[in-house]
Amino acid sequence: MRATILHTTRDIRLEDVDTPQLIDDGDAVVRVVASCICGSDLWPYRGLPEIDEPRHIGHEFVGIVESVGSTVQTVQPGAFVIAPFAFSDNTCPMCERGVHTSCVNGGYWGSDDRNGHFADGGQGEIVRVPLADGTLVATPEQPDEALIPHLLTLSDVFPTGHHAAVSAGVGPGSTVAVVGDGAVGLSAVLAAKRLGAARVVAMSSHEDRQRIAREFGADEIVAERGKPGAAAVREIFDGLGADQVLECVGTADSMKQAMLSTRPGGRVGYVGVPHGVELNIPAMFGRNVGLVGGVAPARAYIEELLPDVLDGTVTPGLVFDQTLPLDQVADGYRAMDERTSIKTMLSV
Ligand SMILES: [Zn+2]
Repeated sequence: MRATILHTTRDIRLEDVDTPQLIDDGDAVVRVVASCICGSDLWPYRGLPEIDEPRHIGHEFVGIVESVGSTVQTVQPGAFVIAPFAFSDNTCPMCERGVHTSCVNGGYWGSDDRNGHFADGGQGEIVRVPLADGTLVATPEQPDEALIPHLLTLSDVFPTGHHAAVSAGVGPGSTVAVVGDGAVGLSAVLAAKRLGAARVVAMSSHEDRQRIAREFGADEIVAERGKPGAAAVREIFDGLGADQVLECVGTADSMKQAMLSTRPGGRVGYVGVPHGVELNIPAMFGRNVGLVGGVAPARAYIEELLPDVLDGTVTPGLVFDQTLPLDQVADGYRAMDERTSIKTMLSV
């Protein structure tokens, strides 16, 4: 079978590798139907940090179960399944508390599981899924092809945007600003509206991204960034700032922009993978601004979000503006690196 391997900075290839097999009794083998490229995949692709040996990549996929180990009960061969971007048992004390990304038995795609067996990357044709009962969520029936992009967002971006909103405490009547117009930021707009936010400001200077933000329910767009952008957000919300600000980038500048856009007593929900972020704790103290969030426990949210995706209440797959066959994965990375694609889906 073929899988995507990152060799070194900006050198990514689809290659023949050993076909994954069942190893542990709790495994499933899944034939990937669609996967996608994540903004966080771009960090190693750009050499941040530079990788020292070739590695399997990709952590978002949906597919069809081909076979299951002897103890697997919740999914059967033939089932259409969603795989969150980390695997987990869904039963340990951390999973019970909704922090599946800290599962005591869990791990991440493209690295070894706790038994020392390799868990494949998601940007390939076949994946061995450890802890299949806890990790995979099956749809009630085979989905129409048109639903697949929307279901694929449940692997990562939609639950991640949702996590930003939930962490910050977005609820009915909230005023919200979203920093970041990548797929996660756009998903955060959708999640905030779904949770009942009264007014959502999307911060974006790109027309195509602004359009999707509007489709996801953004009430206002602020195109400025940095201090002027934060000033514009405060202006919209009575000179105070938003109740909740969702930080979906992870840079020093984006965090500053988020903090400056938050009203006193407000909360920043952060899900951008942090790179060089520093906090001004005395300023946060003085203004009673809190910071909550982190890596999103996507698995914790899939069952809650799935019905709205299945019945079309939300259409999170609009974040995909390009679909390529898997053998053009390198073109997909290039497009996302150059920001000519918001998010690229890979059909297998
Ligand atoms: Zn667990």
